[in-house]
Amino acid sequence: MSSTPLANWNGDEMPLDQVRVSVLDRAFLFGDAVYEAIRVYSGRAWLLGEHLQRLRHSLKEVQIVADVDRLHERLARTLANSDVQEGVIYIQVTRGEAPRRHAFPKEPVTPNELIYIKEVEPSPTAAGEPRPGMRVVTFPDWRWKRCDIKSTNLLANCIAAEHAEVNGCDEAILVHHDGSVSEGSRSSLFAVRAGALLTAPADESILPGITRQLVFRLADRIGLRVIEEAVRHETLTQLDELFLTGTTTEVAGIIDVDGRPIGDGTTGPVTAALQDAHHRAVQEWLATGATIV
Ligand code: PMP
Repeated sequence: MSSTPLANWNGDEMPLDQVRVSVLDRAFLFGDAVYEAIRVYSGRAWLLGEHLQRLRHSLKEVQIVADVDRLHERLARTLANSDVQEGVIYIQVTRGEAPRRHAFPKEPVTPNELIYIKEVEPSPTAAGEPRPGMRVVTFPDWRWKRCDIKSTNLLANCIAAEHAEVNGCDEAILVHHDGSVSEGSRSSLFAVRAGALLTAPADESILPGITRQLVFRLADRIGLRVIEEAVRHETLTQLDELFLTGTTTEVAGIIDVDGRPIGDGTTGPVTAALQDAHHRAVQEWLATGATIV
């Protein structure tokens, strides 16, 4: 794997470690920026249209004016120049540089636009191997009330992820003060109950995951019902299966929550069927150029 990813910084290509930005950038001072992460399979950006649409939503909600079509062109050029086959595209748009003051700058500022393409290990499912099951911990959902915006303000997510890591776990799942479990620190959460899928409704308290939405379509394809209802903290270990979804996570079974096994402590059959459906959807798209699901 190459040491430093190829970046596109405001339209100029350069190695990521050569990008420099001012300390007055509002992303540095306030976390005033939004982002996206997009999976690359065989050199092509998966579910790109959906990610760009979510980026438009995030930009609009925080009132950053950026040209997403231009970002799309840059992304395509830099992806082609990077030669990355298996990777992740990261896009971040900050409000720009201005003297430190909470309210938005009144003088026009130019957003700083970063794209970079990072190589990742091919997904185990691509090699026909099962994805290892995940161990998770529960952690309070300390985030703000607009989690539908994919903001770079991720401190609460980082603290939760750190709590998972120091406890030898792969992910933290976030519990609201009302006892509902919203999602993971960097993934969406699903449960299987009596053959149907349960997941939190896509309101402002979760990120509307692109993979979550894909799983709805995959579920439909394999005849599973989806109920948009958050799972409850106290019933977590009584559910038949639990799994996480995300751009890099794809579909990953949860085998253990807070040290207690889920089901028989292995990835369950419904999760495995969705992993297979996900893999097939990617293969069909690579073969035909069309997203079938
Ligand atoms: N929730 C959160 C909080 C996330 O950070 C992510 C990863 N972007 C997800 C869910 C999964 O979203 P997606 O499927 O679009 O990657």
